[in-house]
Parts: sequence; structure tokens; C-alpha cells
Amino acid sequence: MEIACLDLEGVLIPEIWINFAKRTGIDELKATTRDIPDYDVLMTQRLRILRAHRLGLPDIQEVIDGMGPLEGAREFLDWLRERFQVVILSDTFYEFAAPMMRQLGHPTLLCHKLEVDADGMVQNYRLRQKDPKRASVRALHSLNFRVIAAGDSYNDTSMLAEADRGILFRPPQNVIDEFPQFPVVHDYQAFRTAFLAASDRDLPA
Ligand SMILES: [Mg+2]
Repeated sequence: MEIACLDLEGVLIPEIWINFAKRTGIDELKATTRDIPDYDVLMTQRLRILRAHRLGLPDIQEVIDGMGPLEGAREFLDWLRERFQVVILSDTFYEFAAPMMRQLGHPTLLCHKLEVDADGMVQNYRLRQKDPKRASVRALHSLNFRVIAAGDSYNDTSMLAEADRGILFRPPQNVIDEFPQFPVVHDYQAFRTAFLAASDRDLPA
């Protein structure tokens, strides 16, 4: 039995924080783990900025809804789901991903959770577990699934290494250089071909 694990941001949808910062014009929200390596410090800062701008979850979700998935992502995902069981493994939060999940046809998503107060303000966040992408692939292995995993960046590489096959989709050059063992694709057509090649079944293109 085979299962496909996909990263979300950078693979099916735009990077949420970067695009949110662009759309709202709040430059401080452009910071990523590259600027602030401690994720706790980064998230605490993001939540403080959202509160300072009086942006509650409904406002945030409206902005995210307007981003839409990457061009061709929905068609690719529909294609993949006809051929594989698909689970999306992401480091985002259910509440942020919700508008995108609707636009992607509600695929299965394993990610983290926000704590929102009665006024819709995001108060805190809850990470489901440590190294969740790798842990999810391990869990699927314990269920006797063969796993094909795909992602675009550094935080996906432990998941790709744990999987039976890994694929990089539009990764930055430093990830390509550091992980030459994974095939690299840059568009959804090549992505389909890579999944067919990684499968141990004879699937229709
Ligand atoms: Mg990503």
C-alpha cells in the first residue's frame, strides 16, 4: 500500500506569512525563521503584531482566502488523489489553512492549532508535536504504508529522508545543494511524472 505526503506552503499554496505581510502592508510580518531562528520568539512576535494591528482570525482568514492556491495546484492535487491516498503535512495552523483547504477540495491535513479568544484575537498557538513531518511518516510506516513525500524546503528534508522516496518541488538552491539525493522538479507536470516514477505500482499518467 502506498501513501503520498505533501508539504503545503510553497507546494500547493503561497507562503502564508510572506504573502500576508505583502497584502496587509505590515512589513514586520515578513520575518521568517531565517531572520529569527527561534520559532517561539518568531511566533510570539507575529501574534503581538497581529494584536497591535487589531487583526483577528476572521480578518486574517479573509486575507488568506484572497491569496488562493498556486496556479495549477488544485488540478495537480486532484490528479494525485485519484492515484494515491494523500495526506498534507504542514507546519501551519488549521485556522490559517482553512480558506485554502476549501479551495483545494478539503484534503486531509495534519498541522498545528491556534488558541483564539471570544473576540477572535489569536492568543496563543499549540504545536502538535516535535518534528511532526518525520513523526507522521514514521507513523504511516508503522501502518505498513510505503511513503512518497514531497516538499520545497529545509523543514521538509527530515520527512523526505524518512520516506521511501522523496521529491523536492521548487526548492531554493541551498536545499538542492545540500540534498542531492532527492529529485528536483519545478512544475506540476514534472511533479506528476516524479510521483509516477516513485510509485511501485503501474499507474495511468
Ligand atoms: Mg513549504
